[in-house]
Amino acid sequence: MRLLDVHLHLDHPLFDKDRDDVVKRAVDSGVKVMVTNGINPRTNRISLKYGEVYDEVKVALGIYPTEVLVAEVEEGSQREVVEKFDEDEEIAFIESQKDKIVAVGECGMDFYWIQEGKDKQRVLFQKMIDLAKRIEKPIIVHTRKAELECVEMLEKNEMNKVLLHCFGGRLHLAKRAADNGWYLSIPPSIVRSSHFQRIVEEVNVSNLLTETDAPYLAPGKDQRNEPTFVSETVKKIAEIKKMDANEVADIIFMNYQRLFL
Ligand SMILES: [Zn+2]
Repeated sequence: MRLLDVHLHLDHPLFDKDRDDVVKRAVDSGVKVMVTNGINPRTNRISLKYGEVYDEVKVALGIYPTEVLVAEVEEGSQREVVEKFDEDEEIAFIESQKDKIVAVGECGMDFYWIQEGKDKQRVLFQKMIDLAKRIEKPIIVHTRKAELECVEMLEKNEMNKVLLHCFGGRLHLAKRAADNGWYLSIPPSIVRSSHFQRIVEEVNVSNLLTETDAPYLAPGKDQRNEPTFVSETVKKIAEIKKMDANEVADIIFMNYQRLFL
């Protein structure tokens, strides 16, 4: 079976002890491609390094919607402290690396964690959309409590190559995204998430991809996620769609090729 993980965070400290093994386990289980996503200057540079070290790892570079805000407003809070950076400088850096990356991401808008600074997020997301258009790459979008607005912005910008990762929005919005020719990537937590199960019921398999968002969203609740678990997503999609798992994996691989290659 040819498997894919189109969205993970291989740089995460939870992989510091056994990163080589995590990649090897994935490759041994049939994972052909892992797209690791940067979220800020530090992780973008680490992600580029992993793209060179591991054959199966492809790189997406981005600025996570709340990264700039966290650096600005949350100093002294319990949240992870992020070094301040200039978003325009980082966007210029990502553009300079365009030949080494397969997508722009992770980016998007998230109104769940942070209530203030929505306008800043909107401005940043527009810049990321402009970047993806300029360098002709797909865009990997995170959106939480901002799903409709994200979809509308992407539509207004006539974006064709869009991946909505772990889409938590309403079903009709997921369908609208698929009708636009966009893709939705489903994590292994689908085995315990009725929301992702319903998205799979609603959306044609030709608009689905598999991801892990590793180390998050594992099949088990307190488990560390890793790319080998995409097979769980494939199994669940096959079950819901009443299809053969190999057939599902093949279609998802073709979807990947259409979006990224
Ligand atoms: Zn992510």
